[in-house]
Amino acid sequence: MHEMSLVRSVVRIVTEEAEAAGAAKVTKVHIVLGEGRDIVVDYFESLFRFLARGTVAEGAEVVLHPTPYMARCNACGGEFHLIPVDRRTWTCPSCGAYKDYKLISGMEFYISKIEAAHSA
Ligand SMILES: [Zn+2]
Repeated sequence: MHEMSLVRSVVRIVTEEAEAAGAAKVTKVHIVLGEGRDIVVDYFESLFRFLARGTVAEGAEVVLHPTPYMARCNACGGEFHLIPVDRRTWTCPSCGAYKDYKLISGMEFYISKIEAAHSA
């Protein structure tokens, strides 16, 4: 259940940021999430709702921004989309090199934006 610790840290960061900014309520939390992170989105969202209860982030909407799993070929420098569980996608479409790449995106996990409302 790695979602639990990720969501815990998200809630902690969001509440700290909101309190530091003097926000009364967090309305939206934008999270950039790499495809390779293997996160169960529904589970992530319900955990967030659960852990945010009683904090300024209670009721906030979680907006996930997925980034594709991308690789750069070591042989020709071409970039391509890769699906970790599908080995047919491990071949460079430009030159045919197999499993000879560096991952360039897809493991991101960070809060890109926190939207908050200030009390009147
Ligand atoms: Zn290549």
